[in-house]
Amino acid sequence: MNPSQRTFSFEFFPPKSEEAADKLRATRARLAVVKPDFFSVTYGAGGSTREGTVNTVLEMHRTGLPVAPHVSCIGSDRAAVRQLLQTYRQEGIRRLVCLRGDLPSGMATGSNDFRHASDLVQFVRAETGAWFHIEVAAYPEVHPQSRNAVEDQANFVRKMKAGADSAITQYFFNADSYLRFVEDVRHAGIDAPIVPGIMPVTNFSQLARFSDACGAEIPRWMRRRLEGYGDDRASIRAFGLEVVAGLCRRLLDEGAPGLHFYTMNLAEPTLAIWEQCRIQRPRADESALQAREKGPARAGPRAMPDRSD
Ligand SMILES: Cc1cc2nc3c(=O)[nH]c(=O)nc-3n(C[C@H](O)[C@H](O)[C@H](O)COP(=O)(O)OP(=O)(O)OC[C@H]3O[C@@H](n4cnc5c(N)ncnc54)[C@H](O)[C@@H]3O)c2cc1C
Repeated sequence: MNPSQRTFSFEFFPPKSEEAADKLRATRARLAVVKPDFFSVTYGAGGSTREGTVNTVLEMHRTGLPVAPHVSCIGSDRAAVRQLLQTYRQEGIRRLVCLRGDLPSGMATGSNDFRHASDLVQFVRAETGAWFHIEVAAYPEVHPQSRNAVEDQANFVRKMKAGADSAITQYFFNADSYLRFVEDVRHAGIDAPIVPGIMPVTNFSQLARFSDACGAEIPRWMRRRLEGYGDDRASIRAFGLEVVAGLCRRLLDEGAPGLHFYTMNLAEPTLAIWEQCRIQRPRADESALQAREKGPARAGPRAMPDRSD
């Protein structure tokens, strides 16, 4: 893939306090310097972080940053999702990350309007046509609730065919799982970009907890090394940087169409990987030229970058 067509993005979660909001403003200012294609902001299932997500998204959008809100559908009804889509559309936001979501334990399912992310993708297309570029989630190491990889991939293909434009993966540390997944879904007729999700490694206990919950595998050799560092944060960070930067380099060398960083609302760990990988973005004059060649940004949904080549 032509490096200038790769998509780089940074994910945040909505801050829970004014102090955390200030920290996030500082983080995004530092990350904006490397000119990502977009920042995304997570959304709690059942609308549990609705206000925080919408406020964070609109604040970033109004300061001129490219932003893609996540929308998760489980536990939400059509009216609530319609309202959210209208808010984003009226603001001129053009990209969404559409998910099923996981209800927090103990939270009632509520509405059954949406069962799978593919239902949400269909709904967004029916309501807003081609206005939004739709990203969905992919699981190279298989979604934890799925019975097996074959069924999970078939469900992924169904979700893409429901109208998604591209996908972002759950994080992984084994490049082969991603490469194999991409190869398999290409055979199933999906040409859309599938961007690897990258988790910087800075804290072993937190990483182990997340990985158990989301089904991402920490390879044994990595786990044993990380365990061995105990409370030595500096060694964990140095080892994590070496491993994750190596993973990113390999993925890009093998043709990955970009990288999506789970920043955990921190700039430093992501920027360290970015610098180690020497990721180059098109210069401003090149971007302007590409934008002119692609036509006006607001001319229509197909003015969104087509990265399927
Ligand atoms: C990039 C990324 C961003 C995320 N952001 C958020 C966020 O902001 N908020 C949040 O709450 N969570 C988020 N998540 C987590 C995600 O919501 C969970 O992994 C959730 O369990 C599945 O969501 P999904 O959209 O992949 O669901 P789906 O695509 O619906 O898949 C979920 C499960 O259902 C199965 N399935 C799908 N369709 C069918 C079908 N028709 N019949 C039978 N089974 C089916 C799949 O195989 C899979 O096992 C994110 C995950 C990723 C990778």
